[in-house]
Amino acid sequence: VKEKSANFIIFGGSGDLAHRKLYPSLFRLYKAGYLKDHFAVIGTARRPWSDDYFRETIVASLKEYFTDDEKIMSEFAKHFFYQSHDVNDSAHYIALKNLAAKLNDQFEAENNRVYYMAIAPKFFGVVAEHINSEGLKTKDGYNRLVIEKPFGRDLDSACELNGNIAKAFPEDDIYRIDHYLGKEMIQDIPNIRANNPKFEEALNNKYVSNIQVTLAESLGVEDRGGYYETSGVLRDMIQNHIMQIVGAIASDDPAAKRAKDIHKNKTDLFASLKNLTPEQVDTNFVRGQYDIDESGTEKAYRQEDNVAEDSEIETYTAGKIEFDTERWDGVPFYVRSGKRMPNKASRIDIVFNDKVAELGINANTVVTLLIERTNNQSILINGVNYAESAQDFIKFPEEAEFTTGREAYASLIIDILSGNRVHFTLWDELRSTWKYIDSIRERWDSQKADFPNYMSGTMGPDASEMLLERDGNSWIWD
Ligand code: NAD
Repeated sequence: VKEKSANFIIFGGSGDLAHRKLYPSLFRLYKAGYLKDHFAVIGTARRPWSDDYFRETIVASLKEYFTDDEKIMSEFAKHFFYQSHDVNDSAHYIALKNLAAKLNDQFEAENNRVYYMAIAPKFFGVVAEHINSEGLKTKDGYNRLVIEKPFGRDLDSACELNGNIAKAFPEDDIYRIDHYLGKEMIQDIPNIRANNPKFEEALNNKYVSNIQVTLAESLGVEDRGGYYETSGVLRDMIQNHIMQIVGAIASDDPAAKRAKDIHKNKTDLFASLKNLTPEQVDTNFVRGQYDIDESGTEKAYRQEDNVAEDSEIETYTAGKIEFDTERWDGVPFYVRSGKRMPNKASRIDIVFNDKVAELGINANTVVTLLIERTNNQSILINGVNYAESAQDFIKFPEEAEFTTGREAYASLIIDILSGNRVHFTLWDELRSTWKYIDSIRERWDSQKADFPNYMSGTMGPDASEMLLERDGNSWIWD
């Protein structure tokens, strides 16, 4: 493990994302030796906190995730500093610049800066512009901007946001996070494809009947109703996470190693999305919103805090996505994501047709890739762990064998510190996926939804089953 040197400036350093995800991930990197002596973290937010108080909040949140000795947590927390900050106030950026310069010398951080936006999206543009105009960027180290989702709420707002950050940072220094790209299984998919020639040979419209991607949650919106009312599952899950998962399984040339090539393959795939007419939205996409559960103990979405009584926000979406490429022409990608489903599930089911027997794979075999790996059972063949299956056309390549678990955020932060942009999304990918999503959103916004339309604890509205039945298919996970 090679120690990294950097100064993190976290905008929104007092917030939920910072405390629940970033600080625990930085702590993981600290324990693993990636962060040691040469790093400092400045948290900025509106409230006037002292460094000591800030450090206490960090240790308190670490205790929720780790059982380490408190001493190592406080040693770690000594690298943290707090600066109260209003995103619109130029003077605050000057103060930030001076603090960053001082800490750079104190910790010998080699003038490397990571600017992390853990703040409401409406501030991304103004913060990026001020970082640039107030001269926060260093000359002889790197200056990398990290942006969280949501990246816009439609194509227009995403374009505007991108225009604003592009004025302040070159594309190569922008790291757009989709934390699904930090997950081990998603990162291993190209390895799995490249190292299992027969599986890869079967991965096209000659042998694949359909591909299914499911991200199901059993929870409802919990305390995030206010945020969810501005989003819905189409924007919150389909435009980003689901599309990126589809990208991992469907892009060409999984053996590509260079970031440039990998991004091009994915960009080309998304550019070939078959866009939907309003009538096609009606037939190819289903929306749902959860009602109470059977026993009446779980609230309906419309009864949640900060949710309108007549809310038309969808908590469930299923859809059929198609690509206009030689490889995938005619193969439906059925995707779905929803809240208050019976169980949590994150999986890709690849359903082969009967012609696949030509390749020595049993007709109609289903290969399942489980995205959340908790043990070595991450590839199933017809529902059975691949190692116990009678078929041997797919297995984990050695280098991708299950490790002790790279947590998604920690893994992405190492990438940021290493200048590796492979696992981040490019603007061109987002442009295509937003355009696609907008056509669905526009159609739905023009029609009244018949909500609520599924009980909590069920698989979503009936129309979701019909979507596949119409094509003679059915959901594998049900
Ligand atoms: P939060 O409300 O908990 O934190 C927001 C932070 O911004 C606070 O530190 C607050 O002090 C600061 N802030 C607000 N207005 C400010 C201003 N005018 N000037 C300076 N600072 C200001 O929000 P969060 O849940 O941590 O989310 C932050 C970002 O991360 C959002 O873009 C969100 O969409 C994204 N995100 C959050 C999660 C999550 O699990 N919480 C997951 C994915 C993405």
